[in-house]
Amino acid sequence: AAGPVDGPAWTGSSTAAFEHATAVIPGGVNSPVRAYGSVGGTPRFLASAAGAHVTDVDGRTYVDLVGSWGPALLGHAHPEVVDAVQRAAARGLGFGAPTTTEVELVDEVRARVPAAERVRLVSTGTEATMTALRLARAWTGRDKVVKFAGCYHGHVDALLAQAGSGVATLALPGSAGVTAAVAAETIVVPYNDLDALRTAFAEHGGSIAAVITEAAPANMGVVPPLPGFNRELRRLTSEHGALLVQDEVLTGFRVGPAGWWGLEGAAEQWAPDLLTFGKVIGGGLPVAAVGGRADVMDQLAPLGPVYQAGTLSGNPVATAAGLATLRLADGDVYARVDAAAARLRREVSGALVQAGVPHAIQWAGSLFSIVFGERAAAEGARDYAGVQASEHWRYAPFFHALLDAGVLAPPSAFEAWFLSAAHDDEVLDRVVEALPGAARAAAE
Ligand code: PLP
Repeated sequence: AAGPVDGPAWTGSSTAAFEHATAVIPGGVNSPVRAYGSVGGTPRFLASAAGAHVTDVDGRTYVDLVGSWGPALLGHAHPEVVDAVQRAAARGLGFGAPTTTEVELVDEVRARVPAAERVRLVSTGTEATMTALRLARAWTGRDKVVKFAGCYHGHVDALLAQAGSGVATLALPGSAGVTAAVAAETIVVPYNDLDALRTAFAEHGGSIAAVITEAAPANMGVVPPLPGFNRELRRLTSEHGALLVQDEVLTGFRVGPAGWWGLEGAAEQWAPDLLTFGKVIGGGLPVAAVGGRADVMDQLAPLGPVYQAGTLSGNPVATAAGLATLRLADGDVYARVDAAAARLRREVSGALVQAGVPHAIQWAGSLFSIVFGERAAAEGARDYAGVQASEHWRYAPFFHALLDAGVLAPPSAFEAWFLSAAHDDEVLDRVVEALPGAARAAAE
C-alpha cells in the first residue's frame, strides 16, 4: 500500500524486504552504506527511478540526491540511454569477444582526456584502481604505494587503510582479512599535506611505486585539493620516479566533460601517468576503466607481462549505456548540473544559517557535502582528521527530516551529494521546502 505523501513515511514493504534481506544477505545489503548504519532507520528498497526521482517499494517517490552514487549524471533512465541499452540487449547480452562499441567508448574517453592514451575497460572502479597499482608496481619495479587518509579507491586490499566511503561511515581503521604484508606496503599520509608526502618520499622514495589520489576527494565528504596540491603531486612523483595515479572514478565525466583533470591539469598543462574512471562512464551499468600513458598501459597482457582480464569487461550492453551517456553529456548538461549544485549549496547553507547551525559547505565542481560545527565553519575540513572532528552526528536527524519530506540524501555524512541534469528548479524547489525542517532537526 502507498503511504502518506507527507510526514514520516510508511515503510511497511521496505521494512519487510529488509527483514528478509538481513536473513540472507550480510547486513541485508550488497554494499555497506546502503544499510543506513550511520543514520539509522529502514533503508528504502527502491522499485524504480526516472529523472531526478526514485520510487520505493511502498510507492513513495523521493527527490534523489544519491544518483546511484554518481552514474546518473543525466538523471535516471534517460530515454535515449534506455533505448541504447534495449537495442544492445536485443543483439546479445555478452560475447566475450571484441565489439566496436567498446572501441567507440574508448575513443570518447580519449577525446575528452587525451592523457588516457590507452584505455582498458573493466567492470568496477575497484578493478580499475587494482590494475593501476599492478601496472605501477610492474613499471617501477617497486612495491610501496602512497594513499591519502579518507580517500576511497574501492575495496582493493592495499587501499583499504584509512579509507573513506563505507569504511569511514562505519568508522573502521581498515579491513580485517588484509594481510600484514599487504598493509605494510601502503603508506598513508594526511590529505592536502605535502610535507607529510615529502617525508614519505624522503624515507621510502626508492621503494614507492605510485601515489594514488582521488582527483578531488569526495568519499570523506568533499575535501577539495588545496590550490597547487595536485600539481605538486605530479612534480614530486616525477622527481622520485614514482607514478601518479589520479582516481577519477567519482569525478570523471561528472564534474566536467574531462573530469577533474579537465578543470585543473588541462589548464595547468600537466597530466597523471594513470587515471581510473567508473560510474558515469557506464551510465548506470558496470563499466569502469584504467587509462594513461601508452608505454605504461602497453605493459598489460596480451602485449606485456602485467596480467589483467575480465569475463564481463567491455560488456556490450554496459558499454552501450556508457557510450550513450557520454554522447549526451554535452556542455549544456554540465552547465545544468553545475547550476543545480550551486543553487542547492546556497539553499542548504541558508537554511542551516537560519536555524543557527554552524557549518561549512565543501565543494568540488558539482559535488558537495556539509561539515557541521564551529571549527568546520571557521576553517573548513582540509583532511580526514578535520572531517572526523566535525559534528557529523548532526547529519542523521538532518537526513531523516529530509527523508520524511520526500528527499533522499546520501545516507552518510561522509558521502557527496549527487545532482543531475534532471534536477531542474521545480525539483529543487521541493528540496528547498524540506530544508528548514531538516536544518532545525540538525540544530537539536
Ligand atoms: N574510486 C573512487 C574515487 C570511488 O568513489 C569508488 C566508489 O565509490 C571507487 C574507486 C570504487 O568503485 P567501485 O565501487 O565501482 O568498485
